[in-house]
Amino acid sequence: MKYKSPLIYIDMDHTFCDFNESLDFWKQRAQTEIEYRYPWSQVGFFKALLPMKGAIDFWNEFYDKSSLWFLTRPSLPNMHCYSEKAEWIRKYLGQEGLERLILSPRKDLLIGDYLIDDAENCGQQTFKGEWWKFGSENYKDWSVISRKMREIYF
Ligand SMILES: [Mg+2]
Repeated sequence: MKYKSPLIYIDMDHTFCDFNESLDFWKQRAQTEIEYRYPWSQVGFFKALLPMKGAIDFWNEFYDKSSLWFLTRPSLPNMHCYSEKAEWIRKYLGQEGLERLILSPRKDLLIGDYLIDDAENCGQQTFKGEWWKFGSENYKDWSVISRKMREIYF
């Protein structure tokens, strides 16, 4: 199967999913010190995240024009994240989205044109395409990223 160009990988936590928005909620209902310090290790945490503002719009606009993939690093202390990330994508983007989910502890093992990702701790800097650091000055949110992608390609 041939995929359309450009091939774009999208990170989930802090990029497509609003991780910080959920932290207060989970900290307030924590019953132990561990639960308070590591809310992302709780069952249900990943499933309950909200989409980042503009993220779903980006997916809907570019899904047919390019090749979009989720490329997310699993949280190893919370094995539920493997299924919850999949459930999250199916909930918001359906089966089409679910078919584009890749979980990898390294981002530089994949070949593509762009990686949209907020972090730099698992191979983002050695990714062979362009790394657009989500949240940084030039790529601060999805409206900026959508505009730049439109200017380059569409
Ligand atoms: Mg991230």
